[in-house]
Amino acid sequence: MLNFTIGPVMSNDAVRAIGSEQVPYFRTPEFSEIMLQNEQLILKFAKASSESRVAFITGSGTASMESVVMNVLNRQDKAIVVNGGSFGERFVELCQLHQIPHTEIKLDYCQPLTEEHLAPLAGKGYTALLVNMGETSTGVLYDMPMISRFCREQGLLLVVDAISTFLADPFDMDALGADVMITGSQKALACPPGISVIVLSPRALQRVDKNEEKSMYLSLKLALKNGERGQTPWTPAVQTLLQINRRLLEIESQGGVEVEIRRISEQATDFRTKIDNLPLEIANSSPQNGVTPLHPIGISAYDIFTTLKDKYQIWICPNGGELRDHIFRVGHLGALTKDDNTTLIEAMKDMMKRGIIK
Ligand SMILES: *Cc1c(COP(=O)(O)O)cnc(C)c1O
Repeated sequence: MLNFTIGPVMSNDAVRAIGSEQVPYFRTPEFSEIMLQNEQLILKFAKASSESRVAFITGSGTASMESVVMNVLNRQDKAIVVNGGSFGERFVELCQLHQIPHTEIKLDYCQPLTEEHLAPLAGKGYTALLVNMGETSTGVLYDMPMISRFCREQGLLLVVDAISTFLADPFDMDALGADVMITGSQKALACPPGISVIVLSPRALQRVDKNEEKSMYLSLKLALKNGERGQTPWTPAVQTLLQINRRLLEIESQGGVEVEIRRISEQATDFRTKIDNLPLEIANSSPQNGVTPLHPIGISAYDIFTTLKDKYQIWICPNGGELRDHIFRVGHLGALTKDDNTTLIEAMKDMMKRGIIK
């Protein structure tokens, strides 16, 4: 199997080996120590300001998105939600469900967010801005410094879903003045799904403290309180947390977050160079490092996905809905090498030779 989807992605042997072991009991000083180390390394890699904290939620990325909407925002807020695809849409739906007053900036597929989108919303009493740093459904990487400037000028709380960009694209939480960063275990952390991670700035922590509880399982007050001693309120996905620890230590020992970002960026550049002679166009002008969205010329994107899966045992990421036949995505996260890129390119060339793609 060769997996170029954007999550779950392929894990390395050390991470997989942990998955084959018995699950240890977790209310122990040993497990607490691992969790405190996880918190410190996440804070370091996110470049969070001192006094920031981390909550580990058992649940996929969406659980943490929902937890943030419930615990950090409230009905007195007035939020701006950047909606450039299915993950932006998810924030809109969460605000609707939890009755957070909001305005969406609806972007066309693959379109970047610009100052012209934000300018009309200045001085209108907004309190928060929610954005998916990388809109993984189309691979658009938003201009975070520009968003950050707007949020600072307007005094907005900045909530960043970095689920597919953390460890893959440069992110400096403190420099951006971001208040919340969310990520998940199955993207660049390259572990199995099951854990999502929320980093909270002091300002976000104050909000959590003041807001009324809306959920028990997804309570951040409880997660943070237990986290002080390296514990979680409920049984977490213990093995996934051990695997995350392994990955964080590995990244640290290999030179830290910059080295990991460079590795993924080079993996992406290598692939983007190699597709030169194929009938494929990169579908947006500011792709994130973790994924290349491709628009095939003269053939259905979905047929390419099906053929690669059935005839070559290679998984790429199809798109749903309106984009099904127009876009597919190739991921660069996880235990992939440049040779793996070549294998995928050779498979696509073979498809051309056989007339499957023209
Ligand atoms: C993967 C992803 C999510 C979370 O999806 P889950 O399936 O709940 O893990 C959220 N936002 C973005 C930008 C993502 O890439």
